[in-house]
Parts: sequence; C-alpha cells; structure tokens
Amino acid sequence: MSSALISPAPAIDPAMNNGAFDVAVIRAAFPALQQTVNGKPLVYLDNAATTQKPLVVIEAVNQFYRHDNANIHRGVHTLSARATDQYEAAREQVRSSLNAAVVEEIVFVRGVTEAINLVAASFGQRLNAGDEILISALEHHANIVPWHLLRERIGIVLNVIPVTDIGELDLSALPALISPRTQLIAVNHVSNALGTINPVWEICQIAQAHGVPVLVDGAQGLPHGVVDVQSIGCDFYAMSGHKVFGPSGVGALYARRPWLDVLPPYQGGGDMIETVSFDAVRYAPAPAKFEAGTPNIEGAIGLKAALAWHAALDWQAIAAHEAQLLATATTGLRDIPGLRIIGEAANKVPVVSFVIDGTHPHDIGTLLDAQGIAVRTGQHCAMPVLKQLGAVSGTVRASFAFYNTLDDVAALIRAVHRAHALLT
Ligand code: PMP
Repeated sequence: MSSALISPAPAIDPAMNNGAFDVAVIRAAFPALQQTVNGKPLVYLDNAATTQKPLVVIEAVNQFYRHDNANIHRGVHTLSARATDQYEAAREQVRSSLNAAVVEEIVFVRGVTEAINLVAASFGQRLNAGDEILISALEHHANIVPWHLLRERIGIVLNVIPVTDIGELDLSALPALISPRTQLIAVNHVSNALGTINPVWEICQIAQAHGVPVLVDGAQGLPHGVVDVQSIGCDFYAMSGHKVFGPSGVGALYARRPWLDVLPPYQGGGDMIETVSFDAVRYAPAPAKFEAGTPNIEGAIGLKAALAWHAALDWQAIAAHEAQLLATATTGLRDIPGLRIIGEAANKVPVVSFVIDGTHPHDIGTLLDAQGIAVRTGQHCAMPVLKQLGAVSGTVRASFAFYNTLDDVAALIRAVHRAHALLT
C-alpha cells in the first residue's frame, strides 16, 4: 500500500512532460523567480529552507489587508465576519489537502516547530520519568530538541531509530526499539538534509501493532506531493506554510480526533476558552482549545491560496519532472573529482547534499551565489545525521522544487565545476 503521499519517484517517462506539466507556465506564476542576482538569472535551489510564492498567494494576502482586515471570531461587524469566514475556510483547505476526516482535527500553528512543541508540551503532560519517545537519527532539530526539553523537565528517555550509511532508516531495528514504555514515535516524512523519503506508512503499521501513536514531521512532505494522513495512519502530522509555497509564520498540526479531546491546552489566553473566572476556566473545544490569542490570520489566508493552487497541480507529471531533476543533478555532480553525495537513499525527493574534498561548504556556497545560484550550506539543522555520515563541517545542499528546470541543474553543475577548479 503506498498511495500514502509522495510515493517513490516513478520511472521517468519523458512523454509525461509533454503538455501535462509545463514548467515555463509554472515559473511564470512566481514573481521572485523572474530576477537576476549578481548579474545572472536567479537559480533558486534553497527550496528545502523555504519556497518562493506564486502570485495567487501574494494577492490573497494583499487582498485581505486591502479589504478584509479585522480580528477573527470575536467581532459582530462585517469585516470581522469576513476575516473569520476566510480563516475557517483556510482550515477546511488544510483538512482537504491532508485528507483529515474532520476540520476540527486541524490546529493552526506557527509551523512545524511549533506543532512539535505543542505535542511535546501537551502530550508530554501525560508522561512520567522513564517513559520513552522514539525518534530517528534522521531528524531535524525541530524533532529532537522539544523531546530533549522534556527529558530535562521530567526525565523521559529518548531512543533513536538508526540510519544506514546511505541515509535510509533501518526499519529492521524498529520493533526491538519499541518497549512497553514507548509512548510516541516521532519521525520525519522526508529528510530536509538528505532528501530521503521515509516509509511512514510502514512505521505507522509497526507502531499500531504495538499500540504506539505516531507523529510525522511533514515539513518536507507536501512540497513534493500529495499527503493523505488517513492513509498514512499517523496520529499527528505537522506542516509549515512557507515550505509549501505559502506564507511564513503559519502551519498546521493535524491531530486525530480522540487526541484533541484528551490532550490539555498548550498555551492560555483569549479565544481558547468558553468561560473564565478567577477560580476556574472552561476551555473551548478543539481546535480553538489549542489556538490561544490572535493567530496569523493573513498567513492562514495565504496558505489557503497556496494549498488550493497546489491541489490543482498534476502531481504525476511533477513526480516525473522532479525525478528527472534529481537524476540529472546526481549524475552531473558525481562526475566532479572529490565530490561525495551525502544521502543516496533509493527513495528521495530532489535534494542533493554534497561535500568536496579539500573545500569548505561555505566557500562553495559563496562562489555559487556569485553566479546567481542560491543553495544552503551548513548543517541544515540536522547535526546528528551529518555527523554520522561524515560531513562534520556540513554540506552544500541543492534542494529543488517543481519550478526548477534542467537549465537550473546545468547551471549548478557548471558553477560547482568552476568552484572546484578555484578552490582545489
Ligand atoms: N522539520 C523539517 C524536516 C524541516 O525541514 C524543517 C524546516 N527546515 C522543520 C522541521 C522546521 O520547520 P519550521 O522552521 O517551518 O518550523
């Protein structure tokens, strides 16, 4: 069963790119891509850090500020009603984009970091010293540090699913790592540092057999495909708007209904209560219970536009296009003497992390920037896995989105050749 999400990239069928998916049309929707940087056409390959925004998103936010700006939920006036309707419509769009069963299962948050902190703070109140949380060696710091904080606070034990030298999770180790004290498994859907697509459906199957809930860090999932939380079978799924062509500072936590009812609130304040006195507080039902204070209203509205746009794309054609970007970049970069790709999992999104003998990633990144090519260099908030794979000084990471082209790949390879010649 693999209909859950971003399935492994299919074999490349060049015919699929004829007409079904026109990258030039897609690119035209992104104003920021139409610029030169340092005198060269921008080649934006830092999509795992954040994506560019299509005009529909920019205009949705602009329209909100120009016409509908008001606070939500508490006003009887027309603008407040408009803002509230749009905010709640955004929640429905997130539900639909993740295929959650009911809209109450969607909690708006700042992004994946806040979503995981919410679960750690709220779910964490059920835990006792000695209870275990199982993460993987492939995690972003956002899915390590909140559990570390819980370890410091109440003495939970953090266990780790190992990763192989090509950057795949070693699932054979998973069953033995689940003990009667395991309270939650928290893993990412797709590794931001290496591009590995993790078998989250399989992990959920194993977890369910042991009665353990699963949280999926989906920061890098939706940008590369269709996500179906019911089909994955997870209890929690976290996403960030800015990774998926929407605004920063907004994201969502999907939590399966039973959890929302039993988990305590995360923060206190306005909008998350039914009644307040000095002696007692009655909380509003979920999802309001988890959304204290004025949220990022314009962000949610921009996210709605991004996700509606995303839902209308031809994802089969995009999978073929992204597979072609990955294959071409991998082959071309491998030819460069002394270059080593970090992370060569069988199932990857188009992310190529690499090091070159005798050079520092930052120096390569600076030389690429001079050519108008934006890549990220460093640890990618994933120090443990980079250390294990022998990239202690970090890597150069080229992370592609579907609006990138084979010309972008060629420009990258040319510029890395040049940087290599200059630095070695
Ligand atoms: N997890 C992964 C896999 C990520 O790539 C990121 C962002 N780089 C995060 C979590 C954190 O997301 P955000 O900064 O949007 O909260």
